Amino acid sequence: MPTNRRFLLQRRPQGDPVAEDFALVEAPTPDLADGQFLIRNHYASLDPAMRGWMDDADSYMPPIPLGTPVRASTIGVVEASRADGFTPGQWVMGLNAIEEYSVGTVGGFTQPIDPAAVPSITNYLSLFGAVGMTAYFGLFEVCEPKPGETVLVTGAAGAVGSIVGQLAKIHGCRTVGIAGGADKCARLTDRYGFDAAIDYRGKDEAALTAAIAQAAPDGVDVIFENVGGIILDAGLMNLNMGARVGLCGLISEYNSTAPVGARNLWRLIVKRASIRGLLVMDFVARFGEGAAQMGQWAAQGKLVVDEHVDEGIDNAYPAFMRLFAGSNQGKMILKLA
Ligand code: NAP
Repeated sequence: MPTNRRFLLQRRPQGDPVAEDFALVEAPTPDLADGQFLIRNHYASLDPAMRGWMDDADSYMPPIPLGTPVRASTIGVVEASRADGFTPGQWVMGLNAIEEYSVGTVGGFTQPIDPAAVPSITNYLSLFGAVGMTAYFGLFEVCEPKPGETVLVTGAAGAVGSIVGQLAKIHGCRTVGIAGGADKCARLTDRYGFDAAIDYRGKDEAALTAAIAQAAPDGVDVIFENVGGIILDAGLMNLNMGARVGLCGLISEYNSTAPVGARNLWRLIVKRASIRGLLVMDFVARFGEGAAQMGQWAAQGKLVVDEHVDEGIDNAYPAFMRLFAGSNQGKMILKLA
């Protein structure tokens, strides 16, 4: 059996993850038992949520045990199999880890995927994966936008945010996106069709509140929140009556050593607005429906998707940290083969 290279979590990060929290090790691939198959991982999805899985905290998934490879969705090819329904050469996707080889089990999370059904196999990690489904179900099921309403998207140039903005536009909404830097803001309007873009860098809460008011003069009916902190606080100050806030992520807080918290929740009372957390896993049974609709829009040229692919398991740490530095241009993916 081939040698495996694995990206282990060796220590729980305190604040920003540092390289010493991880270790790249070699290990033999195990012999397969009945019902198991060996996957050669070609791509791993790098997601902000992985930072939360590194903490020893009660969450929707157990913490990654220390000394084990960092949990990640992967796409790969079956290399050997003792499992019915999985044959060598077949493409599969599942919740595995950042490692060159993973062992799958019949009845587990790894399922066959069809490379012919998508423009690029990596689209299973972006448009047709958790990211795309978060955007689709988070926007339409949790935020319930109506045509003509104003939708504010934070983290708008990222994997989820860029799709949310385009979906809201397709739905007939006015869209305002917040992102870091002039280049990303240009991409929001030029590539993803946002009506207005706000660069949050160098702005305090008051300046952000004013910038949102200027970009959304009729107020904000929906916030699709990916960031938290003062960006969320500024959004709350601009809510319209009956507005909906879909709480998708709080990336600005993931590396904080102390909870941050929103300070302007009183605006929800004033505006009889609601805030609701969303978790993409709750919509797994409807992924087919979401993928079919998004595939149609993509084929019609109404939806573009950007992927940022870094190469090599040796680059797992710097590639992961791009998510927090904002240097990823689209869905962050690590190519492993
Ligand atoms: P992403 O947006 O492609 O990448 C992360 C981006 O976050 C960075 O490019 C950066 O963009 C921004 N960012 C990082 N640190 C920041 C900070 N301190 N302040 C402001 N912006 C910051 O990642 P993604 O996969 O699409 O995830 C986006 C959000 O969705 C995350 O919060 C994630 O946890 C959440 N999510 C939730 C679910 C769910 O089921 N609830 C599923 C998927 C993702 P800038 O350059 O613009 O700063």
